[in-house]
Amino acid sequence: MVQEDILPLEEEFLAEVSVGDRWQYTRRQTEILEGLKDKAKAAGLWNFWLTDSARGYGLSTVEYAYLAEEMGKAHLGAEVFNCSAPDTGNMEVLERYGTEAHKDEWLKPLLAGEIRSAYLMTEPDVASADATNIEMSCVRDGDDYVLNGEKWWSSGAGDPRCSIYIVMVASPDKNRHKHAQHSMILVPRDTKGVEKLRAMQVYGEDDAPHGHLHMKFTDVRVPASNLLLGEGCGFEIAQGRLGPGRIHHCMRAIGQAERALELMCKRSLSREAFGKKIAKLGGNFDIIANCRMEIEQARLLCLKAAWMMDQGDKRAAAPWISQIKVVAPLMALKVTDEAVQMFGGQGISQDTPLAKQWTHVRTLRLADGPDAVHRMQVARAELKKYTQEKI
Ligand SMILES: Cc1cc2nc3c(=O)[nH]c(=O)nc-3n(C[C@H](O)[C@H](O)[C@H](O)COP(=O)(O)OP(=O)(O)OC[C@H]3O[C@@H](n4cnc5c(N)ncnc54)[C@H](O)[C@@H]3O)c2cc1C
Repeated sequence: MVQEDILPLEEEFLAEVSVGDRWQYTRRQTEILEGLKDKAKAAGLWNFWLTDSARGYGLSTVEYAYLAEEMGKAHLGAEVFNCSAPDTGNMEVLERYGTEAHKDEWLKPLLAGEIRSAYLMTEPDVASADATNIEMSCVRDGDDYVLNGEKWWSSGAGDPRCSIYIVMVASPDKNRHKHAQHSMILVPRDTKGVEKLRAMQVYGEDDAPHGHLHMKFTDVRVPASNLLLGEGCGFEIAQGRLGPGRIHHCMRAIGQAERALELMCKRSLSREAFGKKIAKLGGNFDIIANCRMEIEQARLLCLKAAWMMDQGDKRAAAPWISQIKVVAPLMALKVTDEAVQMFGGQGISQDTPLAKQWTHVRTLRLADGPDAVHRMQVARAELKKYTQEKI
């Protein structure tokens, strides 16, 4: 489906973004997207990400990795099969930590691909790579909680179908551990006091209609029953949410690298300069060979991390997820950049998917934790083998 149905419609879908209101889907975009989703559903190609679950395919994480890689090759790939970020992570949270009422109201329509969701953790005023810094206030008032503060980089919050936010808030209590000072709470989009301030731009692109929004919450009141799991459980939930989400990004990044390499090879064989095919000029053989080798190395590491997750010990899997979270985006960025170069001027233009892909892959070095934080986790795991000292 990715090759035969989705990729041929991609260019038309993206061109429609500049027609009319950028933050609404045009009739044609809806037709394309919903048509593809219907086809996927009818073929039973839906919600693959629900690994080891009675509701989904029951795929292992390793098996899912192969599918996510294919989905990564197309802009709409993940969404057509209801496997896109941030929804998969959010659905996982609702499935694991939501009440029956939360599941009825939010999980069901998300699983059916009828609505979308956003995950609001990062804040403009604090270094959010260290999530213990998160400070949006959430104060109990009778049967409600009242939220105040700002969030930014809320991916997907611009989408008109995005109906529910999972929000990380501060729940300070000096009697609890530093990783038990935060909570997660559900905030429906239309709640009074929720304000969309602006769309953050990624290298000048607003990524409409998905968007990465800067948002302000002023006396936002939600029922106390919207709190997930309990006060102080935010980190516990975040760890469960971010593990699979991070590795899914990496799997798709490997698919993007494959697409870039394919485009690079085809281009370098179809164009000539200085009397030779571009592939045969200068160091281009080595560039192509290195890209192939680096993709293969990253894929194997990704599969190893997926296999570690499948063993069921989250703590043991965490450093492996961190390793691939550093390696896959860096590799995909390099391969995409080489492809851009081999295309010449067209490579950085709107005429190939490469420029858009480059900016997307670049953001993965920050989203779901910057490289440096993952390196810190990898180094800690390594050093712990040799010391009892707290690292
Ligand atoms: C396109 C995009 C989409 C995003 N989507 C979401 C989303 O949907 N929801 C959400 O909540 N957030 C989202 N984010 C935010 C992202 O997760 C944060 O930007 C990231 O966690 C870093 O936080 P920060 O921006 O506050 O950077 P800071 O915490 O200020 O960190 C800045 C830099 O400090 C350095 N640094 C930090 N810690 C260390 C360390 N331990 N060792 C060495 N150096 C270090 C690193 O160089 C790091 O890049 C998104 C970001 C982008 C770019």
